[in-house]
Amino acid sequence: MYTVKFLRKVRSELDAPREERPFGSGWISGSVGLLAGIVGLLMVIALRNPSLTTVPQLAAVYKDVPFRIVLYFVLCAGFVLAALSLVLRKDKTLGGAAMAVTMLATMIGMLPAHRDYGVEGIFFGLDFFILNVLFTGALFIPIERIFPKNPEQPVLRDEWREDLFYYLVSSLFIQVLTYLTFAPSNFVTHTHDLGTIRAFANGLPWIVQFVAIMLFTDFAQYWLHRAFHRVPALWRFHAVHHSAKSMDWIAGARMHFLEIIILRSVTATPMLVIGFQESAIQAYTLLVYVYSTFIHSNVRGSFGFLEKILVVPRFHHWHHGIEKEATDVNFAIHFPFLDRMFGTYHLPEGKWPNGYGIAGHPVPKGYWKQLLYPFQR
Ligand SMILES: [Zn+2]
Ligand SMILES: [Zn+2]
Repeated sequence: MYTVKFLRKVRSELDAPREERPFGSGWISGSVGLLAGIVGLLMVIALRNPSLTTVPQLAAVYKDVPFRIVLYFVLCAGFVLAALSLVLRKDKTLGGAAMAVTMLATMIGMLPAHRDYGVEGIFFGLDFFILNVLFTGALFIPIERIFPKNPEQPVLRDEWREDLFYYLVSSLFIQVLTYLTFAPSNFVTHTHDLGTIRAFANGLPWIVQFVAIMLFTDFAQYWLHRAFHRVPALWRFHAVHHSAKSMDWIAGARMHFLEIIILRSVTATPMLVIGFQESAIQAYTLLVYVYSTFIHSNVRGSFGFLEKILVVPRFHHWHHGIEKEATDVNFAIHFPFLDRMFGTYHLPEGKWPNGYGIAGHPVPKGYWKQLLYPFQR
C-alpha cells in the first residue's frame, strides 16, 4: 500500500513542472542521484550473479577491476547527490528514494561473497572502506543528530581521526580478515563429519536459522568477551577497544587487529560449522555490522520493553562506562539475558554512565602506539 503510494509520489516528483524544479531546488541532484542508485543496484546484481547474463563474454567484464571502480563511483555519486537533494529540496521524496536505492545497492554489494574470498588486491579494500563509511555515516549521522544521547558531542569529536583510521584498516584488509575468519570452521568441517547436524539446521525455517545464528554467536561472543576482560594478557588487547572516551558510530571500530581476527573467527565458528543456509549467514553478517555500530552510537532512548530482550545503546554504553560499577558487566551484544544468566547484568533504571574509558586512561593515543601497546611491559 505505502510502497505504491510512495512510488506514485516519486513519479509525480520526477514529472514536476519546470517552475518547481529550478537549478538549486534539489530536483536535478535528486533525479540524477536516483538514477545513479538504480544503475548501481543493477551493476551490483550483475557483479554478484554473473550467471544472470545470457552473454558469457559479459561475465568476464564484471570480474574486471575497472567495472568495480565504475560501480564504486556510481554508488558514491548516488550517496552525494541524494544527500544534496535532501538538504536542498523541501519535498524529501526524491532524495529519500535516491538514498534508499543507493543504500540497498551498497548493502547487497557489501554482503560477503563466500565462494571466492581470494585476496583481490588493495583497491577492493579501499573502495569498500569509502562505501562502508558513506553507508554507515548516511545511516547513523542523522539518527545521532535527531536523538542524541550527548547533544554537545560534534560529529568530528576528539580522536575521530584515530577511529576512522581503525575503520580504514579493517576495511582495507577485509579479504585477509574474511580468510582468517573462515580458517577455524574450515578446519572443523574438514576434520569432522557433521552431515546430520548440517542437514537438520539447513532444513529449519529461515527465520529460525537467523535467530539461532544470533543466539549461537552471542553465546560464543559472551564467553570470549568475558575472557578478554578477565585474562590479563587478553585484556591488554581488549583495553584498546575500551580506551574510547566518546561513544558514537565510529567508536566501535577501535579494536586491536589481533582481537578482530580472534573475535570474528571464534564467534563465526558455530554458525559456519552448524551449516546454516548461506543467505541466513549473509543476512546475519550484515545485521551484526549495523547492530554493533548501533550499540556504540550516541543515541538516547529507553526503548521500553525491547531493552529487556535486545541489547540497546544504553546497555553497551554501560559496558564502556568509566565508573567502578560498570567494570566487567554487560558482555552480550544481542541478548541481555546472557548477562542475567551468568551474573554480569547491569542496567540501572533510566541512568547512563558518567563517562567512558578506563580509569586512569592507561592506553596511549594513536593507532600505531595502540597496536604495540599489548606487547609492552
Ligand atoms: Zn569489553
Ligand atoms: Zn564496545
